[in-house]
Amino acid sequence: MNAIAYLDHNATTPPRPAVSQAVTAALTLGGNASAVHRLGRLARRKLEEARERVANLVGGAARVVFTGGGTEANNLAMRGCHRALAIVSAVEHLSVLDAVPAPVTVGVDGTGVVDLGDLENRLAAAERPAMVSIMLANNETGVIQPVAEAARLAHARGALIHCDAVQAGGKLALDFTGLGVDYLTLSAHKMGGPQGVGALIMGADAPLEPILRGGGQERGARSGTENVAGITGFGLAARIAGEEIGHFDEIRILRDGLERDLVAMAPEAKIIGAETRRLPNTSCISLAGLEAETQVMALDLENVCIGSGAA
Ligand code: PLP
Repeated sequence: MNAIAYLDHNATTPPRPAVSQAVTAALTLGGNASAVHRLGRLARRKLEEARERVANLVGGAARVVFTGGGTEANNLAMRGCHRALAIVSAVEHLSVLDAVPAPVTVGVDGTGVVDLGDLENRLAAAERPAMVSIMLANNETGVIQPVAEAARLAHARGALIHCDAVQAGGKLALDFTGLGVDYLTLSAHKMGGPQGVGALIMGADAPLEPILRGGGQERGARSGTENVAGITGFGLAARIAGEEIGHFDEIRILRDGLERDLVAMAPEAKIIGAETRRLPNTSCISLAGLEAETQVMALDLENVCIGSGAA
């Protein structure tokens, strides 16, 4: 049998077996976390345990609002922050770029790193209170952005700042307070949790106007019966990812070896972002004359060998 390595973890990483089990158990248990009877209280306990685990993954945070994924959390931050102007990096995920009309974009340099001078100029030129959004790590190149510096610049001009940490979550040690941002987005399925679950992490003073209204769940920040099973899986995935973060040192060695061998075979290959800090699992390679999505294969999924965190 030919094993095929799964190398698309930035698109989604397969749920960890322990997570699948925890999701199934929570689903079987049932219970609405807003209900006051025993089953409801059990569901609430699972929810709050997951909230604590997700907060721990980012070194502690004032508030964790569970959402239906990273896209929703990005939209919630950008639209719910009460700021009339958005200033975002040009390399943000579409769920940031398209969340609000006509954002001002900040350029990146040749290595894909946000131009802080350009950010400073855009902040100085802003005529209305702004919301800045700079991702922590790019989904295609893995390039890590100077978010803490951007946060200092934003706050010096009275702006709020959001960080999309969907790709960094579970791969880099995160420190919400150290980054100095007001909002931070995580997505469960990028760290071995279930798809369709995410979180908006918020500082104590960060304003938030809900975009989903109704039952007032998540302390009014996001109405709708919580996905207790999915959130339970997210919490467990966050806990395991935090415990196993050192594993990415090995992944980095494998990635670097792969890139070295590739460049030896094809010296014209360009590794995007190689000169700067990148996620340890990500490799973005450009080869002149080749389309980005060159290879389309019919996969026999039974033969796919799932690595745990390779690029
Ligand atoms: N932000 C980044 C950087 C992403 O890579 C993705 C997904 O690929 C998202 C946001 C959206 O997250 P979700 O798939 O949970 O909606």
